[in-house]
Amino acid sequence: MRTLITNGTVVNADGSFRADVLIEDELIAAVGLSGDRSESGQALGALSGALSGEAVDRTIDAAGRWVIPGGIDPHTHMDLPFGGTSSKDDFETGTRAAAFGGTTTILDFAVQTKGEALRPGLETWMAKAEGACAIDYGFHMIMGDVNDATLKEMDQLVEDGVTDFKLFTAYPGVFLSDDGAIFSAMRQTAENGGLILMHAENGVAIDIVANANAAAGLTDPYYHGVSRMPVFEGECVNRVIRFAEAAEVPVYIVHLSSRDALEEVVRGRDRGAMAFAETCPQYLFLSLDDMDNGFEGAKFVCSPPLRPADHQEDLWRGLVRDDLQTVGTDHCPFDFEGQKDLGKDDFRKIPNGLPGVEERMDLVFQGVVNGRMTRERWVEVTSTAAARIFGLAGRKGAIAPGYDADIVVYDPEKKHVLSASTHHMNVDYSCYEGMEVQGHSEIVLSRGRVIVEDGEYRGSKGHGRFLKREVAREYLR
Ligand SMILES: [Zn+2]
Repeated sequence: MRTLITNGTVVNADGSFRADVLIEDELIAAVGLSGDRSESGQALGALSGALSGEAVDRTIDAAGRWVIPGGIDPHTHMDLPFGGTSSKDDFETGTRAAAFGGTTTILDFAVQTKGEALRPGLETWMAKAEGACAIDYGFHMIMGDVNDATLKEMDQLVEDGVTDFKLFTAYPGVFLSDDGAIFSAMRQTAENGGLILMHAENGVAIDIVANANAAAGLTDPYYHGVSRMPVFEGECVNRVIRFAEAAEVPVYIVHLSSRDALEEVVRGRDRGAMAFAETCPQYLFLSLDDMDNGFEGAKFVCSPPLRPADHQEDLWRGLVRDDLQTVGTDHCPFDFEGQKDLGKDDFRKIPNGLPGVEERMDLVFQGVVNGRMTRERWVEVTSTAAARIFGLAGRKGAIAPGYDADIVVYDPEKKHVLSASTHHMNVDYSCYEGMEVQGHSEIVLSRGRVIVEDGEYRGSKGHGRFLKREVAREYLR
């Protein structure tokens, strides 16, 4: 099967140019410069001359469109048990929704059950995803127990393509690891070439404030937000980056939400720490104000929580300046009716998590529309940087010969309205209900196959494959 995408503008993290893209089976076979050559930057591996003479099975006319590498969402939770229920999207519905939004790879989190080894947890999540996914997927490993046996297991997981480990300073009694456990896991990972991911909020301190608020009768969802103070995130981000410096291991802060945390990442990076961080669309677009609306606020309960609106500008700036490298969603949807209402009388019982896997590319694109970031930086933070950090460089994250043909034909002009009535995520509300955005994923290909076109799903469950990832240490210095 040969497909040619003609007349479009290829947008890569390192430059944009008019080019034809030839796909052979699952891979990009050639990129041929066309039109007025380079608009900006380099055309890595590109041939000069259009490819319009090639014999192909299908031609896609991308005139007026951009041809971008498919999005990589480095942070999703499909089918995750949490707080007595499970996130509503499974790997089938969640990856299909991701595809509609122009994302062609997700990295999800396998969970170690306390008291068990890592491997059974990974196998449980592998089984959930196997045969279900519309797009390619990989796993991070959440470590609940750090001990001699699990430390040894980490090395084997890295060999098997699960190259990073997430630990928590939050959720005492559930996921929380103490300083010793975190530092031990970091030292082990420094040896095996992997990466440490941290949910960095001080869960012990948060619980003291949350319990005091609840005891005082302040039980609305809003108090979930105010209890988890930004300073508790800043404190932990500093602590885990310092530990990582001592262990000489790269560390990646997931879902960074506040100015306090960002400042610690900047300070760490300025010292030369191998510190990286991801933010999420909800922290760029939503705020504590959205939670201040009675129980409606439960729609916005996630951890870390939404912050006062004045943090948003700092996060955008961090994203543009590469203090933040990626945008993940932390997609973890719970229905408003039947799931979020578990915490009707007590914010501490509301399942933590928001939907968002479908909206990520378009939301971050608003930064291009309003002139905050270049289109190349948009591609970098939504795809290329995650490929580098998570061991997918050379396969994902760029339009170049030899790469997987994960490609989005993106219409940068088309406007549409975000709504639960039109989205494809399996959840009964949208955090962005009624919001108009500019930019739309028109045609989406996963490894050479068109999976979304004309607003219809053309893919199939089981097309998506498990990605055995490489260690990426050369990108993590
Ligand atoms: Zn998460």
